[in-house]
Amino acid sequence: MHVSAGAVLLALALAGVAPARAEEPATPQQCWTPQALAGTQAEITPVRAQHRLDLEPLKQTPLPAATPIPPELRGSIRAVELPPGEKLIALTFDLCETDTEVAGYDGRIVDLLREQGVKATFFAGGKWMETHPERAEQLLADPLFEVGSHGLRHYDLSQVNEATLQDEVKLTEAAFARTRAAYAAKQCAIDAAAAGKAPVPERVRVLRFPYGRCDPKSLATVADAGLLAIQWDVVTGDPDPRESAKAIANTILTKAHPGAIVVAHANGRGWHTAEALALAIPKLKAEGYAFVTVSELVAAGKPVIAATCYETKPGDAKRYAHSAGKRPSHDLLPIFDGLY
Ligand SMILES: [Zn+2]
Repeated sequence: MHVSAGAVLLALALAGVAPARAEEPATPQQCWTPQALAGTQAEITPVRAQHRLDLEPLKQTPLPAATPIPPELRGSIRAVELPPGEKLIALTFDLCETDTEVAGYDGRIVDLLREQGVKATFFAGGKWMETHPERAEQLLADPLFEVGSHGLRHYDLSQVNEATLQDEVKLTEAAFARTRAAYAAKQCAIDAAAAGKAPVPERVRVLRFPYGRCDPKSLATVADAGLLAIQWDVVTGDPDPRESAKAIANTILTKAHPGAIVVAHANGRGWHTAEALALAIPKLKAEGYAFVTVSELVAAGKPVIAATCYETKPGDAKRYAHSAGKRPSHDLLPIFDGLY
């Protein structure tokens, strides 16, 4: 007797047995309406204000155990060598937020990535997650996206003392854990878990150093905390308002290669980023590229690892130096210089 798949599913449903879908992740569309997911114009622009973060709730948040990064993956990852024929690329977006601002949320970028079904990684500052709780939950809940760490308050981690370094790394993980817990407590997430949907990863696995600056000590601290240090090898230059969408798209398209890591901003500092992506993504797809998260890219090949952090050439990150507590250079107008 022939039994259709539909009949089997119906029988399972009537018996109260959910079909096995353990690998299928939950989606943010199960928790938020299209209107609630869509970005708004009002959120894009960063607001300058002294806005100190209360560290106490973060310090009281328990963190899941971390496995230190093995020796062969320590250092600053700039790209990934892939097996021949693999045409993967990782788009990454920094969500920087300092003590002197509440940064933006550029929904034009996120909405476009969702529309286009493009995977990406967001490196979120812990402070950004705390000031954008709903947006942070939406990003975490989306299987298209990976959320990594961009430090807590966008301090230059090559310039801070040991206690601050630990806070910047650990308390960003705490902000991730708080965001994850807030999402997991929602009824829609509880329902998704009961239906066997894959949960949001328990912990952050990747970190991007603020300003693209590190030193041996901060690299070691990050690796000991179980985080891969991810830099880039395609710089969009999107914090510069003079970089047009066409120019940014051109940079992405001419510098793209299998295994590339592209850096851009989704905190309102990427002036023409969304427009540039609307130009570049269809062309990259036509060239045969598949978009993956940075963790997926690293897992797909052999990372290209540098012993130091730099923008495009070893040593060039020094010009972006600033000390924690001092007025950061990008806080001045024009704000594009050195903001990563
Ligand atoms: Zn940044």
